[in-house]
Amino acid sequence: MSPYDSSPAPQSRRAPALIDGLGRSVSYLRVSVTDRCDLRCVYCMAEHMTFLPKAQVLTLEELDRIATVFVGLGVRKIRLTGGEPLVRKGVMTLIERLSRHLASGALDELTLTTNGTQLAAFAPELARLGIRRVNVSMDTLDPDLFKRLTRGGDLAKVQAGIEAAREAGLAVKINAVALARDNAAEIPTLIQWAHDRGHGITLIETMPMGEIDEDRTDQFLSLADVRQELESYWTLSDLPLSTGGPARYVEVAETGGRLGFITPMTHNFCEGCNRVRLTCTGTLHTCLGQEDATDLRAVLRAGGDDAALVAAIDGGVRTKPKGHDFRIGRGAAPSVSRHMSTTGG
Ligand code: SAM
Ligand code: SF4
Repeated sequence: MSPYDSSPAPQSRRAPALIDGLGRSVSYLRVSVTDRCDLRCVYCMAEHMTFLPKAQVLTLEELDRIATVFVGLGVRKIRLTGGEPLVRKGVMTLIERLSRHLASGALDELTLTTNGTQLAAFAPELARLGIRRVNVSMDTLDPDLFKRLTRGGDLAKVQAGIEAAREAGLAVKINAVALARDNAAEIPTLIQWAHDRGHGITLIETMPMGEIDEDRTDQFLSLADVRQELESYWTLSDLPLSTGGPARYVEVAETGGRLGFITPMTHNFCEGCNRVRLTCTGTLHTCLGQEDATDLRAVLRAGGDDAALVAAIDGGVRTKPKGHDFRIGRGAAPSVSRHMSTTGG
């Protein structure tokens, strides 16, 4: 017998049932499938990270089971992330299993955020399994700077991955963290590069998550300031696009491409938030910027059935905080102690 529960999501076609205590409906689940990564981006991880013992990490079967319960509760979109999702052994099996919810119509979208290093090998298979778009993180076009920012990464590999994804028919969106000291001057070039190739690009403000080796204060770059500068030579028109997340989108008339701004530090996006996050250890976080947590692994490993998982998820979602509490201040401790690679960006 397959170790997976191959059944469709229970109650999959009903209206969203996951409503938090403030009336926001939760329709988007991000799943961190591993805390491990083949890169060590300076803003994300410390150089020498201690990764989780394997026993604490959900198996692929457990990830499938919890995700499937979420789909049954009305989640319409799942994004796999990490750590680096494509370094998790067997991740394609998980994607194949989850893709049954695309085929059944229970899920509108299954997607992933990746650093792109393994994308050249996986892109055709991802496309075959029904993945339509991927977000690829790339903060610079300078191979030396890329190597320094990722502590050893090979930019050419990532760019080959992006090209392979495009050839496989996947829409690619580039994610770039805006870093005051390192890539601020390069941002227009990065945008132009992405738009020339038909990719959207989203800029992200650094968020104070987890202890890293350097002080993020020096690197914080306000995207309000970036936008103002871009507007001095480009025409940016707001797009009425809301993904229920922190991104706001514009179209750049001169390049004809789409540009997003993720501004958790300067813009409060929480009132329309539709998402929750599952860590690779089975912890449900209903807010990226708060410490709230519900342990779904405990429910699962105590032999809990789907009803027990539904009750635990519902209880966690009901207490979803009103909003985050991110602050960047000199000498301030990270607002949230867990790393982005644990929660899943
Ligand atoms: N490894 C994959 C990747 O890099 O795309 C997926 C996980 S990564 C944690 C997801 C996104 O979070 C990436 O775009 C990364 O740049 C971003 N990120 C990581 N740490 C961050 C931080 N402290 N502030 C803002 N964005 C961060
Ligand atoms: Fe790895 Fe992504 Fe974090 Fe970079 S941002 S260290 S690629 S998880």
